[in-house]
Amino acid sequence: MWTCPNPECPPTENPPKVEKPDEALRERSPFSTWQLAEWLKVPVATIYAWRRMGYGPPGNRIGKRISYRASGVQRWMAEQGMVQTVCGGECGGTYWRRQFTPVKG
Ligand SMILES: [Zn+2]
Repeated sequence: MWTCPNPECPPTENPPKVEKPDEALRERSPFSTWQLAEWLKVPVATIYAWRRMGYGPPGNRIGKRISYRASGVQRWMAEQGMVQTVCGGECGGTYWRRQFTPVKG
């Protein structure tokens, strides 16, 4: 059984389905810091904090800006369990892979 991040979605026997690594992401042009923040659904300040901590996707400094290659973002997200995954249950919603929890039963 699997629990879905959606609290209204009952546990299901159907495992969540990992979507193919985002083709759109692979072909994307590099992310700016704010585009990356938007993509990862975190505040821009979080991206800066991650960078100070040496965490987060690899970025290249170009002048005063940081540029993040889409392939690097994709790889980092996969390492974090941040892979787009579709609920196999009622809601059919898309969440990160790590948000689904297997439960016994
Ligand atoms: Zn669900």
